[in-house]
Amino acid sequence: MHTINEQDILTYLLGVNDAELFERANDIKVQRFGDEIFLRAIIEFSNVCDKKCHYCGLRAPNGKTERYRMTKEDILDAAALATSEGAATIVLQSGDDFSYSTEDIGSLIQEIKSSHDVAVTLSLGDRGLDEYAYWHDCGADRCLLKLEVTNPRLYKRFRGGEDFSSRLHKIKFLQHLGYEVGSGVIVGLPDADLISTLRDILFITDLDLDMIAAGPFIPHPQTPLADMEHGCIDLSHRMTALLRILNPHANIPATSALGALDSDSQKLGLLRGCNVLMPSMTPERHRSDYTIYPGKNASNIDITDSLKLAKDMISALGLVPSSSKGFSRRNNVHE
Ligand code: SAM
Ligand code: SF4
Repeated sequence: MHTINEQDILTYLLGVNDAELFERANDIKVQRFGDEIFLRAIIEFSNVCDKKCHYCGLRAPNGKTERYRMTKEDILDAAALATSEGAATIVLQSGDDFSYSTEDIGSLIQEIKSSHDVAVTLSLGDRGLDEYAYWHDCGADRCLLKLEVTNPRLYKRFRGGEDFSSRLHKIKFLQHLGYEVGSGVIVGLPDADLISTLRDILFITDLDLDMIAAGPFIPHPQTPLADMEHGCIDLSHRMTALLRILNPHANIPATSALGALDSDSQKLGLLRGCNVLMPSMTPERHRSDYTIYPGKNASNIDITDSLKLAKDMISALGLVPSSSKGFSRRNNVHE
């Protein structure tokens, strides 16, 4: 058991013992996951969104985004390409786009699961509890639903009036259904001070999640937070390292947001407790329109190169790109 108290967490968050913190986090990651880094191929199949999150470029009021929706055939082709390149997890992600019906998503899951030996992760936002139950029956393995910030007042403000408790309830319901569930926060949203960051860490840990993401906030020019500072890279590293110590079994990505700010800091994340990379496998013609924040998805990358670049990054660090589905290591059981 890795005991650590609130005072230790604050000391680490302040960066007083960086070297010790990062070494401790890496040791725990190696104990649970060895040198393997799990890969998740993300297919960002629609950038249409009903919501108004203040931080995100896909928010409904942003009239400058070129919107797209991929067809079922295009999504299945992208999934087939990703698996042929060696991906063992497909993440289906989109804006909160309710034009895809429960059955549309269900049949996508069924077709991907019956054609390929992969895990399927859903990152579709605030869909209904009954829909998530149906998709679990269709074979979906995991869900990602980030809390973004665990202070209910800030949550309401930054998510355009949405209710924190219903998001939290959804996360708990997904766990109850038997999904592997991921959540997390955006690091460095405006007015998030060190104490609220400490609370985020404790709150997220309390949820006993299978996956935890904590990537830096990156301001998008067509949002209400356009003029704000981006989240601190060092603080993001400290946060993921602390989350690793407190949640040894969880999958923790070196986020794409880190990579968008500075590719070296994404690499460093893999040496400081993170064990997952999530390359985008969205087709070239759409990838640069998935503009959550500036720098997300370089448009000049051929998607078959996307996974290869991620594998090369891992190998260059002396780590091993894993070909496994990469479930969390709750019981310290290797697949
Ligand atoms: N619409 C779904 C949802 O919100 O859960 C899934 C897609 S959403 C684009 C995926 C994630 O992008 C969000 O959970 C949020 O953490 C992240 N995100 C959005 N805008 C961001 C920004 N400006 N900086 C960092 N992360 C951001
Ligand atoms: Fe929509 Fe998700 Fe972006 Fe919020 S974070 S605006 S729900 S895509």
